[in-house]
Amino acid sequence: MSWLLSRLLVGLVAIAAGGLAGLLVAAQRGALIGALLGGLLGFAALVLRDSLRGLRLLRWLRGSHEGVAPRDAGLWGEIAYRIERSLRGLERVAEVERMRLAQFVSAMEASPNGVLLLDASDQIEWCNARAADHFGLDPQRDRRQRVTNLIRSPAFVDYLQAGSFEEPITVREPSGRGSLQVLIRRYGADSKLILSQDLTERERAEAMRRDFVANVSHEIRTPLTVLSGFLETLRNLPLTEVERRRVITLMTQQAERMGNLVGDLLTLAQLEGSPRPSADKWVRVGSLFAQVEAEARALSAGRHTIALADAGEAQIAGIETELQSAIGNLVNNAVRYTPAGGHIDVGWRIADNGSGEMAVADTGRGIAREHLSRLTERFYRVDSSRSRESGGTGLGLAIVKHVIQRHGGELDIESEVGKGSVFRLVFPAARVRSGGVCVAAAPSEPAELLVR
Ligand code: ADP
Repeated sequence: MSWLLSRLLVGLVAIAAGGLAGLLVAAQRGALIGALLGGLLGFAALVLRDSLRGLRLLRWLRGSHEGVAPRDAGLWGEIAYRIERSLRGLERVAEVERMRLAQFVSAMEASPNGVLLLDASDQIEWCNARAADHFGLDPQRDRRQRVTNLIRSPAFVDYLQAGSFEEPITVREPSGRGSLQVLIRRYGADSKLILSQDLTERERAEAMRRDFVANVSHEIRTPLTVLSGFLETLRNLPLTEVERRRVITLMTQQAERMGNLVGDLLTLAQLEGSPRPSADKWVRVGSLFAQVEAEARALSAGRHTIALADAGEAQIAGIETELQSAIGNLVNNAVRYTPAGGHIDVGWRIADNGSGEMAVADTGRGIAREHLSRLTERFYRVDSSRSRESGGTGLGLAIVKHVIQRHGGELDIESEVGKGSVFRLVFPAARVRSGGVCVAAAPSEPAELLVR
């Protein structure tokens, strides 16, 4: 109340001073009128001062409220201070809300699903970039548009209009690229939240799984049919000793084929289910080569010239059985797809950048360019009958690719029809060391070239 007292006092003083001045000026004639006029003038001066202060505050309020409010004394000063304080408080609350909204929007944008918000009349309120991509929308331009004018899929329109949203539906993407799973949820006063998920990848994986099961069944059924045919023959036909032996040999081959297939399937399943090979278990390249050499010579039975590089003390960080299986598969293929009299070379070198390269080169039939990119697909064969005849399962290169990828490297294939092929396993420098020294840690070390 201090401002009220001081205002009353100032008012009284102004009127009294005005009145006194008027009294003095008009002392002789009309002293009373003079005093009254003086008092009125004093009051007017007070009103003018108040109006000026009020105007200053009004101007500040109408502006952008930057800087401090006019700091006048008394009533106007207090009004300005209190208005400024509550304005600053509101601005702070609005800023916090703005930040929360921005965080919420960026969380929605980061969502792997499409998010679309509709108001009670199914007009688009907001959508994230993924929903825009899924439904072919423009987040700015299509705001406040009726969603059914933009997403015209009959399944979607029926779903939205039926109003029963317990289960999601599947619709084609407007671009025709793939399928979307769409789920609607109500919120607030009949607003709707639409969530969309791209099913293309899942459908592709599902199709691959179906193909794989179909392929495995086919691969197993073929030798099984042959085996039961032979069993039938053995049971029903009187065979000579020579014929019986021949049938048993063929049956053994089919049984081996099934065994190889099951073995390769188990290897693949193991590769998929086990953790990434650790980078501190070192395997000597020389000992891998020694085991591979024995197998290759047994398989070739002297029909090929087989030569392996001296890998010295070079080592690779990884799982020995997996590395053995990868290099074994490559050498096994080289022997199987190289006619008698051909050469097979297994090399090893450490490149300038420290990566390790294992190469299996043959002078076999080679592979046409159009097949190269598909060779590592499961059950892909250039020549199915040749592969089966030679005991192939169609899974060898898929295993090789899996193993090298798990070891952080890559499989590189070069081939020319009629001349031969080179299959290279390239290991990253961090997994290679030569003679106990990690190559990656010593880049200045001179490159070692051990390829024959
Ligand atoms: P498979 O058990 O049939 O050999 P792979 O996955 O090991 O299966 O190889 C896939 C196909 O790649 C083979 O069927 C064969 O056609 C081709 N291939 C693999 N290695 C060689 C090679 N060294 N020379 C020629 N063709 C090869």
